[in-house]
Amino acid sequence: MADRVNSARAALDTIKTRMEKARRRFGAPPESVELIAVSKTFDADQVRPFLEAGQRVFGENRVQEAKEKWPGLRETFPDVELHLIGPLQTNKAREAVALFDVIETVDREKLAGVLAEEMSRAGKRLPCFVQVNIGGEEQKAGIPVDEAVAFVARCREVHGLDIVGLMCIPPDAQPAGPYFAQLAGLAKLSGVENLSMGMSGDFETAIAMGANHVRVGSALFGRRDQI
Ligand SMILES: *Cc1c(COP(=O)(O)O)cnc(C)c1O
Repeated sequence: MADRVNSARAALDTIKTRMEKARRRFGAPPESVELIAVSKTFDADQVRPFLEAGQRVFGENRVQEAKEKWPGLRETFPDVELHLIGPLQTNKAREAVALFDVIETVDREKLAGVLAEEMSRAGKRLPCFVQVNIGGEEQKAGIPVDEAVAFVARCREVHGLDIVGLMCIPPDAQPAGPYFAQLAGLAKLSGVENLSMGMSGDFETAIAMGANHVRVGSALFGRRDQI
């Protein structure tokens, strides 16, 4: 176990050093960029060393998987902050509200309505991000770019959601910088403060474009066999 905690700590240090360099280059205030450790596909035993090493903010993309993994880990680490970063079906909204602390993938009217209902039923008001389909890709989730600003406003005014930021996954195999810059522009227009963008391959670019939440999986935990 000690060995695994040491290697988790080394992996965290490496990523945080790279984040810090990018942050300084961008000129953002210290401590302003948060690392979300994306633990999808890795089981509780593989995640625990990262908790022992001090990491507290994690991302999962599937409700069912999070439900199997996190309640047990939370018993030992009650101060964990869990982000839902994958697509959410409305029939899973109740479970998502029970399991997660932040929902990053609000991307359509019906989901916004159901989440608002489930939060009020649970007596919670979770911070949420609106996911934007920044590359306009058919296979990707997210609200279309040209509807994003109005959608944020409706989530707030009609549904009463606490929208704190925008999130995106840019197209593969293309420079991500312009997409990140575009999301930053949309955040300004929408009046939200937080930008969740950047993964293992491009988190430094994302920070240079204003990201203050980066979602890093494989660079911390190693290669995934499944998506
Ligand atoms: C898997 C995933 C990540 C992490 O990807 P890596 O390339 O492993 O860092 C980030 N964001 C989302 C939405 C993901 O599904």
